[in-house]
Amino acid sequence: MEEYQELAARVRAFGERVLAPTIAAEFREGRSNAQAIPAMAAEGFLGWSLPPRYGGLGYDYRALAVLCEELGRIDTAHQITVTVHLALVGLAILQWGTEEQRSYWLPRLARGERIATFALTEPGVGSDVGSLIASARRCGDGYVLNGEKAWISLVDEADLFLVFATVDRSRRHHGITAFLVERGTPGLSTTCYRGKLGIRAGSTGSVVLQDVRVGKDALFGHEGEGFAVAMSALGNGLYTVGAGAVGVAQAALDAIVTFLREIDPHGTGPARSQWVQQRVANMVCAVERSRLLIHRAGALKNKGVPNARETGLAKWQATEAAYQACRDALEIRETLGPPPYEPFERLLWNAKGSVIFGGTSQIHTGMQAGHALGYRQERIPRCPAPTAADLASR
Ligand SMILES: Cc1cc2nc3c(=O)[nH]c(=O)nc-3n(C[C@H](O)[C@H](O)[C@H](O)COP(=O)(O)OP(=O)(O)OC[C@H]3O[C@@H](n4cnc5c(N)ncnc54)[C@H](O)[C@@H]3O)c2cc1C
Repeated sequence: MEEYQELAARVRAFGERVLAPTIAAEFREGRSNAQAIPAMAAEGFLGWSLPPRYGGLGYDYRALAVLCEELGRIDTAHQITVTVHLALVGLAILQWGTEEQRSYWLPRLARGERIATFALTEPGVGSDVGSLIASARRCGDGYVLNGEKAWISLVDEADLFLVFATVDRSRRHHGITAFLVERGTPGLSTTCYRGKLGIRAGSTGSVVLQDVRVGKDALFGHEGEGFAVAMSALGNGLYTVGAGAVGVAQAALDAIVTFLREIDPHGTGPARSQWVQQRVANMVCAVERSRLLIHRAGALKNKGVPNARETGLAKWQATEAAYQACRDALEIRETLGPPPYEPFERLLWNAKGSVIFGGTSQIHTGMQAGHALGYRQERIPRCPAPTAADLASR
């Protein structure tokens, strides 16, 4: 526990010093901080939970939650860098990659020499992954990829795209296949969205694949195994989204406490009113409940025991709680004074993004009901998820 607190203090100090000073302007102007990813790489954040033998720091899943909570506390855009690059792609390569793929990609990702992203969603296909349209046609001993991916994080920065395409749409989930595709491969192009509501300090956009030829070394996992790859990667991704949401709720709580103490230092004015106190108390509860749920899921991940139910519950509850906490904080702030409403407005829109990314609340609601009713069983994948001991291995 002490070790996690020390890690939190270290990440927080870095975030306050390097990331926080410019975040409000970046969000307002809808641009990324070009120094952020290199600075995070220099701190080892991009290889935080990759094994030391691949150049990572070897921290366990609970430490990964600590990293994402502290980054989310600064801004969700910074947490998403770790979510996408490390949790969705780096850990997936560790779990599903061949030894060649692991030893080539992981040291580069850990050092931040290459930035990775996860390309699953399509313009008409989000929650219903089985309906995926992007195609992979066998050609010689490789494949030709065609299709479009939407809402892809780190779209401007990524060098490596973990792309999901189907070899046979009629086979739905069983046709989905994963590929590692590098930027610069002819036919792959990207466009960044402008004018998003949340995560405005991070790039998000579309990836177009037009007759993109890849060799068989780009195949990631077996042909037809892409759905299992995507779901296990999302298990780690949504865990870090939930952890980031704890940070968002904490930031909203910290900011409203600071504001209330400033306008009412002795607690004799508006901060004493019941409607304010009720909201502040609910925010405290949201932060602590969500953090416990996330760390429970992290403890299961550390041991390598099935955790889809607990991780999904933690993500769903933490992101909804953060969204509510941000609404409460903004409501207090707006009621008690004129603009500017930074950071409340920024946190609120970021929190909404987290509710969607990594499975919407409606999808998680259905999954929780499925678990409770016994209709949903967790399948153990061909390649088991790395445990804390695997992450620490030298
Ligand atoms: C900030 C941000 C970053 C993202 N980054 C990435 C990324 O890096 N890579 C990537 O691949 N994707 C990314 N996404 C996409 C994200 O994963 C999808 O937006 C999400 O899965 C939902 O898909 P959708 O937007 O197509 O909505 P849909 O699936 O079309 O859903 C629309 C609405 O219908 C509801 N709904 C859908 N199905 C059901 C059902 N069966 N029962 C009840 N309600 C249902 C949903 O809850 C939602 O409210 C990102 C999204 C955001 C907002």
